[in-house]
Amino acid sequence: MRFDFLTLFPEICEVFLTKSIIGRAEKKGLVEFYYHHIRDYAFDKHKRVDDTPYGGGKGMLMIAEPIAACFENICSKIEKRPKLIYMSPRGKILNQEKAKKLSKLSNIAILCGRYEGIDQRFIDAFVDEEISIGNYVVTGGELPGLILADSIIRLLPGVLSSEICYEDESHFDGKTLEYPQYTKPAIWRGRSVPEVLLSGHHANILEWKNSMKKNIHIDD
Ligand code: SAH
Repeated sequence: MRFDFLTLFPEICEVFLTKSIIGRAEKKGLVEFYYHHIRDYAFDKHKRVDDTPYGGGKGMLMIAEPIAACFENICSKIEKRPKLIYMSPRGKILNQEKAKKLSKLSNIAILCGRYEGIDQRFIDAFVDEEISIGNYVVTGGELPGLILADSIIRLLPGVLSSEICYEDESHFDGKTLEYPQYTKPAIWRGRSVPEVLLSGHHANILEWKNSMKKNIHIDD
């Protein structure tokens, strides 16, 4: 699967995606990342990518044209136009079901906003979907974009050691959260591991695990 990031901070994305499980997935050829610096597509000599909003208001907005030129350049290099997702607090909130659906695609482009966001005309003209990581605001779309990419990549066949790894996990069925887990030593600072996990009795262990699964909490 191919990911194209449109961002003003490619290095933020790169440092995360080259590490650990995701980094190994790339080395194995299961996933490819391309980073596109929106500033490279700025058209004036100051390489300007932001400007003041019409109608007044605080802060700056990202100018439409550099982002459009950046996306068109990506499209010209790939056979299939990627689905363009804009990370936005105004988007639909990401969940496991959405990650699963997106993991079936061959390529996705992720647009990371900065400042107060992006000229709406770019969104109207190019963006296929707006996705939010939750009802709060962060300073840029890179972390949200990485969260989206990570949630998709770990579902791709071959990325985790076995599919069991995620089929048993929180949110897989959209209803339940994983049981608590323990590793060595069996007693840590006076706290022991639940007896049943040390019993070697598979049926009882399975029953315990199922009984310890919880329903998703909607709100606290
Ligand atoms: N003024 C905007 C917030 C801009 S925050 C508003 O009130 O809606 C700057 C950038 O951070 C956004 O363009 C977006 O790409 C990213 N961002 C911030 N919060 C986000 C969230 N909850 N989910 C996804 N992206 C987010």
